[in-house]
Amino acid sequence: LVGQVAVPHASPEAVLNTLVAEGQQPAGRIGAARGECEIIDYDAYRAGGGYSLAAAVVHGEEDAEEILRTMEASGLRGLGGAGFPAGRKWRIVREQPAPRYMAVNIDEGEPGTFKDRHYLESDPHRFLEGMLVAAQVAGTEAIYLYLRDEYHDCRVMLERELAKLQANPPCPLPRIELRRGAGAYICGEESAMIESIEGKRGEPRMRPPYIAQTGLFGRPTLEHNLETLHWVRDIVERGPDWFGSHGRRGRKGLRSFSVSGRVARPGVKLAPAGISVRELIDEYCGGMIDGHELYAYLPGGASGGILPESLADLPLDFDTLQPHGCFIGSAAVIVLSQHDRARDAALNMMRFFAHESCGQCTPCRAGTAKAALLMEAPRWDHETLEDINQVMADASICGLGQAAPNPVRCVQQYFPHEVA
Ligand code: SF4
Repeated sequence: LVGQVAVPHASPEAVLNTLVAEGQQPAGRIGAARGECEIIDYDAYRAGGGYSLAAAVVHGEEDAEEILRTMEASGLRGLGGAGFPAGRKWRIVREQPAPRYMAVNIDEGEPGTFKDRHYLESDPHRFLEGMLVAAQVAGTEAIYLYLRDEYHDCRVMLERELAKLQANPPCPLPRIELRRGAGAYICGEESAMIESIEGKRGEPRMRPPYIAQTGLFGRPTLEHNLETLHWVRDIVERGPDWFGSHGRRGRKGLRSFSVSGRVARPGVKLAPAGISVRELIDEYCGGMIDGHELYAYLPGGASGGILPESLADLPLDFDTLQPHGCFIGSAAVIVLSQHDRARDAALNMMRFFAHESCGQCTPCRAGTAKAALLMEAPRWDHETLEDINQVMADASICGLGQAAPNPVRCVQQYFPHEVA
């Protein structure tokens, strides 16, 4: 199972200049990908044993508590970026008073991330089955799927496959509603997504209360990223040790890396947790493009910071990048070469954050715009930038404003020659 999942992709230049700057996914991929990623439709999925697990759980032939223990033992963590243990989340929601809801985040808007789309457009029923299992175990009575509207072809396909599932269900189904996002990056943040589903402006909520206690329509809500649910069936069927048996350098599990930039073969790469970016490039991406040498990399999209080549042997996993001012997030790895400058990437990101700030809190709304202006200068005003960074990191309501300083600080720490 561990291997490469090739996905057609935009050029590295497009990745750096268009995708990072505008927060868009590689152009033209959906149509092209339909030819390359054959969709396993409802009939094919059921013919391969699909939905047997969901039916067994719903009919009580599989013990919900046993499945919960399996999920907890597997070590699966949320793969949307936050990395909260999935099994623990199920248990927390299950212990809340009914009615409970579930929200599936398919808003995949982090620049450089396209793994969810890959799994959605190749094997949609695998995540739908994981969703039904999670809903049954956590006791949620309605499910809301939140799909970014830029994934137009995916929506058409998902509507069609959902209709097939509902017309010929393997077991009694909860209410399932598909909601369309409207292109706001911030609606990938779980509480902003919930506001959007409720029909309000997509603005993040102050926490606590956490959405596991007070989420959709004020009720306890289980929120999951698509890829997290994609792995549920495999983990339950193969046992908790299977997922954890993969990994390098003491890390456990599998990671789906969305790799773009100056590599020979970009795409979604399924690799062991704890792999380094150097290994990822050499073993999974066919090395660098001819004429390009590794100079820097973004381990986690726009928010995850920028690291130099000298730190290319760090394990790419949750927590391990934090001491270096970075994080893996949704595992969107963007590779830069000697033909790129880290400061240009950082400026693109700050402009992106300024554009996508919901404007609710001043440190983020004013700070991102001001920082972007300062970063245009050939020499950076480090003192003023750090002042803004500190206020954004300390006083922003959500992760957008809190993480916005990461690329700036990385350039100051690892690429000072570019801004001196
Ligand atoms: Fe909105 Fe930015 Fe504040 Fe988040 S940090 S709530 S995006 S203004």
